Amino acid sequence: MKPNTWLYLHCLLMTAACFAAATEQADLILFNGKVITVDAQDHIYQAVAINGDKIIAVGSNLTINALAKPNCKFVDLQGKCVSPGLIDSHYHLMYYGAQFWPGYLNIRHPVVTSKAEFLQVVGDYARTLDSLEWVSANQGFTVHSDETVDRYDLDTVTPNNPVYARHSSGQYSVVNSLALDIAGIDSNTVAPVGSLIMKDSHGQPTGILSHYPAENMVGQHATGYGDRTDEQKFDDIERGQNLCLEAGYTSIQDVIIGNTRDIWLYKQFADSGQLKVRLYMMLYLDYEQQADSLIKKAKFTNSKMAKFIGWKLAMDGGLAARTMLMYDKSLYASQLSYPYHSQDELNSIVTKLHNTGLQVAIHVGGDEGIDMSITAFEEAMKAYPRPDPRHRIEHGLFPSATALQRMKSDSIILSTQPQWITWYGDGYTKLTDAATMSLLLPLKSMLGMGIHLAFGCDVPASPYQEPKWAFKGATLRKSTTGTPFNLEEKLIMPEALRIHTMGSAYAAFMEDSTGSIEVGKYADLTVWSHDLYNMNVDDSNVLASLMTIVGGQIMYDAGTLPVTQVDASGNRVPIPSVIKLRQNYPNPFNAETRIEFEMPKAAMAELVIYDMKGQRVRTLARQRYGQGAHALVWDGRNETGQSVPSGMYVCQMRSEGILAHKKLMVLR
Ligand SMILES: [Zn+2]
Repeated sequence: MKPNTWLYLHCLLMTAACFAAATEQADLILFNGKVITVDAQDHIYQAVAINGDKIIAVGSNLTINALAKPNCKFVDLQGKCVSPGLIDSHYHLMYYGAQFWPGYLNIRHPVVTSKAEFLQVVGDYARTLDSLEWVSANQGFTVHSDETVDRYDLDTVTPNNPVYARHSSGQYSVVNSLALDIAGIDSNTVAPVGSLIMKDSHGQPTGILSHYPAENMVGQHATGYGDRTDEQKFDDIERGQNLCLEAGYTSIQDVIIGNTRDIWLYKQFADSGQLKVRLYMMLYLDYEQQADSLIKKAKFTNSKMAKFIGWKLAMDGGLAARTMLMYDKSLYASQLSYPYHSQDELNSIVTKLHNTGLQVAIHVGGDEGIDMSITAFEEAMKAYPRPDPRHRIEHGLFPSATALQRMKSDSIILSTQPQWITWYGDGYTKLTDAATMSLLLPLKSMLGMGIHLAFGCDVPASPYQEPKWAFKGATLRKSTTGTPFNLEEKLIMPEALRIHTMGSAYAAFMEDSTGSIEVGKYADLTVWSHDLYNMNVDDSNVLASLMTIVGGQIMYDAGTLPVTQVDASGNRVPIPSVIKLRQNYPNPFNAETRIEFEMPKAAMAELVIYDMKGQRVRTLARQRYGQGAHALVWDGRNETGQSVPSGMYVCQMRSEGILAHKKLMVLR
C-alpha cells in the first residue's frame, strides 16, 4: 500500500480532522501550532498542508507531515497561532504607499497631534526650502478636537512657500494664502460640485477646502499630488503592499481608485507578477456625468490577484471636518454638513451603477446620510432586482435602529473601522452628544441581527494599519484614555476575527476562495506572535504578524520561526524564506562596507543606495541571483564616482515586488 493510500485510510478511520486528498502532496507545511481555521465550526488543528497556491489538508502534525513532497518546505510554528490571512475591506493601497514617499513632508501621527505641532513642523520645513517651493505634506495632520487651522495660521509660519496639507481623515485640506493665489481661488470662486471652499463672514476663503473636487484645485499644483508619474505610482503600490504584508493582510480592498489609469497600473503590476496581496478594486466617482463616462470606459478585470468589480461614492465627510450628515445639524460634527448628492441624484447614480451588475459602496457616517444611502440602494434593487448585489455602506458610524432593520432586510453590508472607537472615541464624544454616541457602531447587535460586517483599517485616514487596532476597538470598545463606549456592543475575539476574515471576504465576493483555512481555498495565512483566542486583549498592542503567506508563498517573515527544507541527504536544513538584507558591516564606515543578502529562490534583484531625501545615490546591482547568500561591497561613492558626504543612507533591496531596507551610516 502506498503511503498516501495508507494515510487516506488512516484519516477515514481515525478522525475527521484530516481532509487530505489521497493524491495530493504538499510543498509547504506549517506544523506544531494552533491553526484557527474560521471554518463553519471554528475548528482548530495543529498543522496545515499547502500545494501550489491552495490548501490541501488541515489536521494533526502526524497526518500533515506525512504529506510532504521530497522538496517540501516546513515552517515549525513552535506553538504559535495561525489564522486565515487577514482581509482588509477598506484600504487605500497605492495612496497609503505614497504617504511614505520621501518627497512629502511627514505630518502623520505621531509627528503632528496638535495645532502647535502642526505649525512648528510646517514652519521648520519651509525654512529648508527655496522661496515658492511647495510645502507638500502627506495625509495627514491631526489636531485637538477643539482646534482649527486656517490660511492665516499657516501664513504666520510660511509666508513665502505655498502649503498643501490634508487632514488625517482625508475629508479636507488646509492651504495658505500663497497656495490659494496659485490655484486662483478668491472670494468669487465657486466650488466644484460636491465640495466646498470654506469662506469667512466677509466672503474670503479661509484656506479650508472640503472634499476632493475643491481640494484638488490646489492639490493639482502641489508637488507629488498632481504630477505623480506612473513610475512613482508603481513604487507607491510596492511600498503599500509591503506594509500590508508586514501587518498580516493577504487581501485588501482598495475602495478609492481615482481613475481608470490607476486600475490599468494595478493590472500591469498584477500581470507582471509583482502584486503580492490579493487586490479588490473599486472605482471612485464624484458626480453623475462621471458615472456615465466611467461606465463606458472602465474595463472590468477579474484574475487571481486583482479584481475590479465595484463602484464607490461618498455621501458625507467626517466629524473632524464637521461635515458628517446627521439629522441634528446643531452638533459640531455636522454643522457644516451637506449631502454630497441630493436624494434624486444619488438614486439615479446608484441605479446606473447597480445596472452595471457590479457592487456599489457609499462612504457615509451620519444617520441622515446612512438613511439616504439605503434609500438609493432600495430604489435601485426594487426597480432592477438581481440576486445578491451586496451593496455596501462604508464606515456607517451612527446608524439608527430603523437603518439597521433596513440593512438587514436589504442585505446591505457594513464595512467599518472599529479602531476609530479606540483612536477617536474621545473626540467623537466632544463633537456630538450622548444620544448620537449611543448609536456608535452597534457591532454586537448587528451581528445578532445577521447583518454582514466587514472590517478594514482605512489607512491613511486612520493613524495605523495593523489589524490589532480593529481587534482592540471591537473587543474593548474603549478609547486610548480608557473611556468606555456602549460596552454591551463589545465583540469577542472569535467574532472579530471572523468578521476580519470571512466577513471581509464576503464583502468582496471572495468567501468561496479566501477567508478561512479550508481545503481547496487559497493558501492565504497569517502567523501571529500571540494566540488570538487566548490573549489578554489589553495586551493587543503587541500583537504582530510573524509570517504572512499569500497563495502558498511566504511574502513576509519576521525571521523568528525556523523554515527548513529536506536536503539530498535527507536532513532538514534552514533555508531563506524571503529576501533578507543583513545589516552592513562595518557600520558606520568610511572607505567601504559589505552588504550581505539572501535570496529564497533564483530571481532578479536590485540593490540601490538612497539618500534620506529619497534620491538614488548609487545602483549597486541589478541582476539575477541564485538561491542562497550573496554579498556586495559599497565604496561610499555615488554613480559618478564621487565620495558621498557623511550622513545616513538607505540600502533598498527589491526582488519581485518585495522590498527590504537597511540604514547605513557614512562617517568621513
Ligand atoms: Zn477610506
